[in-house]
This record gives sequence, C-alpha cells and structure tokens, in this order.
Amino acid sequence: MTATHCPYCSLQCGMTLQRTGPRLEVAERPQRNVHASGADGADGAAASGGLCRKGWTAAGLRGSRERLTTPLVRDRASGELRAVSWDEALDLVAGRLRTLREAYGADANAVFGGGGLTNEKAYQLGKLARVALGTSQIDYNGRWCMSSAASAANQALGIDRGLPFPLADVERTDVLVLVGSNLAETMPPAARHLDRLRERGGRVVVIDPRVTPTAERADLAIQPVPGTDLALALGVLHLLDAAGAVDEDYVAARTTGFDDVRRRVASWWPERVERVTGVEAGTVRALAGMLAGAERVMVLTARGAEQHAQGTATVLAWLNVALALGMPGKEYAGYGCLTGQGNGQGGREHGQKADQLPGYRMIDDPEARAHVAGVWGVPPESLPGKGRSAYELLDALGQDDGPRSLLVFASNIVVSAPNALHVAERLGALDLLVVCDLVMSETAALADIVLPVTQWAEETGTMTNLEGRVILRQQAVTPPDGVRSDLEVIAGLAERLGAPSTWPTDPEEVFAELREATRGGRADYSGITYDRIRAEDGVFWPCPAIDPAPTAQTDEAASTDEAAPHPGTPRLFADGFPTPDGRARFVDVAHTGPAEEPSASYPLHLTTGRVLAQYQSGAQTRRIKELPDDGPFVEVHPMLADRIGAADGELLVVTTPRGVMRAPARVVTSIRPDTVFVPFHWVGANKLTNDALDPSSRMPEFKVCAARVSTVPDS
Ligand code: SF4
Repeated sequence: MTATHCPYCSLQCGMTLQRTGPRLEVAERPQRNVHASGADGADGAAASGGLCRKGWTAAGLRGSRERLTTPLVRDRASGELRAVSWDEALDLVAGRLRTLREAYGADANAVFGGGGLTNEKAYQLGKLARVALGTSQIDYNGRWCMSSAASAANQALGIDRGLPFPLADVERTDVLVLVGSNLAETMPPAARHLDRLRERGGRVVVIDPRVTPTAERADLAIQPVPGTDLALALGVLHLLDAAGAVDEDYVAARTTGFDDVRRRVASWWPERVERVTGVEAGTVRALAGMLAGAERVMVLTARGAEQHAQGTATVLAWLNVALALGMPGKEYAGYGCLTGQGNGQGGREHGQKADQLPGYRMIDDPEARAHVAGVWGVPPESLPGKGRSAYELLDALGQDDGPRSLLVFASNIVVSAPNALHVAERLGALDLLVVCDLVMSETAALADIVLPVTQWAEETGTMTNLEGRVILRQQAVTPPDGVRSDLEVIAGLAERLGAPSTWPTDPEEVFAELREATRGGRADYSGITYDRIRAEDGVFWPCPAIDPAPTAQTDEAASTDEAAPHPGTPRLFADGFPTPDGRARFVDVAHTGPAEEPSASYPLHLTTGRVLAQYQSGAQTRRIKELPDDGPFVEVHPMLADRIGAADGELLVVTTPRGVMRAPARVVTSIRPDTVFVPFHWVGANKLTNDALDPSSRMPEFKVCAARVSTVPDS
C-alpha cells in the first residue's frame, strides 16, 4: 500500500495505491495536517478527504494500450513516426539543439513546461533551459492558470501563495465570495467546506455567468456579463464605503493607497454597475449588505475572474474589497486564489516561468542570480535573462527572431492554448518539435520526436498544492519497459549537451538541491525534507532551515545544539505583509472591459470552462474508459435557442474572428441569454478563444470573446 496523492488538480487529494494482480487499486486517504490548527485551537477543519471520479479512476491509464513505450522519430521521407532507441532519440535531440544554437544563438531553442510536473522536474527543467541550453526562452502552461492572481497578490500583498491559509479555513468564515470558481465540478471534495460553512450559519456568494453546481449551493448567485467582475467589485466597494463599512483603523495601520481607490469607486453607484455588468442594482446592494455586516469575509478567485486581459486588475479590485474590510491577515478571512493545476503553484516557484528562478526569486535580481548560480556551480553572468511569456513564446516560434525548436513537457498546447489554430501554425514553422508525454496527445502527434515518460504512480516527487503545502507523491509501481522519467530525459540531454552542474535522476537528491536553491527566497523550502512531509502529511512554505544554535564553549571546541525545526507557515500576514514597509497595497484599477466586445457580426459573449469528468486538455482523462466522454457541447439559453431555431442536441456552429467549431447544443436556463459556454477539454473551444493578453500577467483572455452561433444548415 503506497500513500500518495491524485495526479490531477491542485487539491492534490490524498489516496493510497495498492497492486492487486495487474490492477492498481485506488482508495481515498484522509489527510491531516499537524500545522493547520487555528489559533482558537480548533483543528477539526484541518482534516480532509474524499476523491472525485477523476481521482477514483486515475489508475485507468496504467497498462493502457494508449501508453507510449518507445521513443519515436519522424521519418523525413515518409513523414511517419518510427520507433528508435533512447540513445538514438536523445542523441538526435541534443545534436539538433546544438546545431540550432550554433546557427541562430542560444534563444533559438525554447522549452515549454507544465503545471503537472513535480517540483523536482520543474526545477531541473528550468536548469536545463538556463544552464544546458543557455536560453531565456522557457515558460509553462501555468501562465494560463493563475498568473493573474499571482501578479495581483504580489502587487497587493507582497507574496503569491495561492491560498495564504489552509483551505479548510473556508468553513470558519462568515461570508465566502467565490469569484469565477466552479469548485463543485473542478475539485468536488472541496465543496464539502462550503456545505460545512453553511451548516455553521455562514453564507456563500458565487459570481459566475452560469449557475453552476457551485452556484446552486450559494445563498446568493450573481450572473454578471462575462468580463465585468471588476466593475462589480468597484460597485461593491462604493457601497461599502458609503455605508461606513470600511475598516478605517486597519486601512490606516496596515495598508497604503486607499485614497486613490476610494476616489475611483466614488462614481460606481449601483445603477452604473447594473448597466455595465447586467447585475441588478438591488443584487449589488444585497451583496454589499452581506459583506458590510460580516465579521469575517473571505474572497477566493479562480479562472473565471483571472483568465482575462484585465485578469490582474480584476483580482486587484476584489483584493481592494477584502483590504477595505480589513480581512487579509485576520483568522478565517482574507483573499486567496484557487489554483487549478496539480502543481500550478510549485511549478512557478522553481524556475519554469520566464521571469523566475527557484525559490520564487526574480531572474533580474542580481542577488537572486548570484545565489542560484552558486548552487548550480556556474557564473551568474552565464544565466540568461527574462524570456517570453507562454503565449508570446508560442507566437514567436519560427518567426525571424523567434525560437527554431521547442521542447514540450507535460503540456498539450494544441488543445489548451488560446487561438489554437494560430498556435498549431506556429508549431508547424519549427525546425524541431520534441514532446515528452505518456500518450499520443494532439501536440505529440505533430512532433518530430516523441519521448515516452512515466506517469504519477510510477515515480516519486513533491507537489505544492493550492494552499502552499508541499506534499509527496510516492512511487507505487514500476514504469512499463521503454519509459523514462522526465528527470532521466533532462539528465540525458544535459549530459549530451556537455552541461555543467549536476543532473541527478533520483527525486530526493534533486529536492535536496532545490532546497538549497530556494534558501532565503520567498518560497523557501530549505527546512522541508521528504521525511518531514511523510511524517506531517505536508509542510507549508515558507519553511526555512534553522541553523544549529551555537552553545557555550566546552573544554574541546564549540558544540551546537539541535535547533527546533521551523514549523512551516500555514497562515500568512497575521503580523504584517512581506512588502518593504510591511503594509498591504491598495492598487487603483479601472474597468475597461473585455478586449473583444460583441458586435453586429458576433453578437454574443463566448466563455469557456470545465466539466467534472475531464481534466485540462483531456489528454489523460479522455483516455480513461470509466470516465464519461460525451465530447464538447455548446451551452445556450432557451431564449437564444429559440432565436436561432435550435433544439437540445442539435448540432451548432460557433464562430469567432479566429475560428469555427461544431458541437451539439445543450439548452439550459442556467446560462445568461447573451452568453454561450463551451468546455475546453477537447479540440475546438480554443480555436475560438482570444489571445489578447493581460499587460501584467500575460494571461490570455480565455474567458470571454465575441461569437455568433447558428444551426448547421441542411446540405
Ligand atoms: Fe484529484 Fe482534484 Fe478530483 Fe481530488 S478533486 S480527486 S485532486 S481531480
């Protein structure tokens, strides 16, 4: 029996794996964290458990015929992929990378990582790019996950840790505001916290253009026009200020910048909010009234608020509401982001992101460069600078000054990137596309070289869940013959490229180096060990190593006492914010609306999202036969269905300025009549989405664009 965690979302539910003959049995494993007790001594909320159907069926890929078990190289003459040995494949990749570097410079080679990689892999991947390839061109698909929340939290709170408190704190707040989260479908076991909160008498508000299963649990469900959450926040803060509900003492003592925000919201009276958001003025007043009377308020954002060209500003506007109420740093209150991918948090902390080095250090900080270069054993000046963000990197592929090769790890770009037809075109312009994956994903199918890698049950490594809790996935079974771990692939390439530094393939050895690289950084893991994670079922960062304390001289020499280890940090901000002056920042933000508004040609809003049985691009979950896969669909309101003459189940055509998709109609009253919804787990939805980027986070606007919908004409 092996204690581990689910391979999918950021909840990282605990599970055990047991081999029964050829089968791998999954069982739920309640998690308990010894650090999570509240100051009031109540620790019952720290226990969690349960799995959703994705978790229960996660072993379905084990032994699947769809697993890739040999490296494949595309034959230039036939265009077909043919099986080759690992040596041949890695020699070929390294040789072509070297040739491109010599011909075009180091930035000719690019790396694209994933938020599903363990911390160890993310760390080594960043090192592969910066040390072995010398390229600045690395980013990862987590950029499309919670980067707007990260950017906002860094600006306002001085640090980006998805939730600055354990998730179970949700149960003890008084009013929970979920902005753009459908956690009842995306992370169902988390929904129990909402139920317990309501059992305690707390109230839940859900803001989403659709009445999702999460919104059905809410005391107040608000359906704004997609792309107007920011305006709603401005209106709420206007009412809170008018009602005298701003916590003036907190604002004066613990924050800066409120005066500009107060001036900004002064003109956002409820009727103006109604005109912009479509939310009735009375509903805006009801929301503000709930918040004004609450002792504890918690605001959590997710992709619905964040995946916008104004995503960072939208999160900042809701952070302003939380700060004005005096919540961040207060127990069972504050602001947090519900991260999506399993290691979306750790993935960005350890060097996969274009602007960051391990420990959440910024790549343009000379001290950070010196520290990390020291751990890597290379001169600081040899490290490249900041590269392109994920979409900008893809957009530049094959262009005059863009990369000529791309190494892809744990990402199915062709399905998950915005404006996906354009991205596929850019991939086609490359001299070399290498994809590491478990299965022949849509992106792997385009590759010149495909490298088959291990999956979660076949390897060990740490993940950092949505709470900033570092947990350990443990190997339960041996990988199929012919498959290697990403760490082995990275080491094999680094060795062939003659890279300096060390390239261990043992995850615990990599983690030991990662700890040193993060020492003193914002995300300090130096006090965390595999043994501690096992003993405590996870450790919250920051958790710095405590050096032994010197004691009095003995007759021989100085001795040291064993210092108590740092306990980890489940809750942040109680004593201040990690900003230069210890105060949180109000940031003045204005509503400008989506990058693409409806027009005569495209009169509707299109929004995208998830369904319970599928995860991300569906590369894994679509191949698990126990999970229902009905394919994509188009959710439309009955009024819209009437207008276009569509019946439930009838094939619809959805068109945006970038592409067209066809899928059956689902006629539901739970969506706004001016909006259509398409899930993005299949090829199609992202052919439609807009690649307009947030100026700060570089998040694409997945969540809203202009569209038209019609029935398929009889031919
Ligand atoms: Fe896995 Fe997330 Fe489902 Fe938990 S909620 S079982 S982590 S997919």
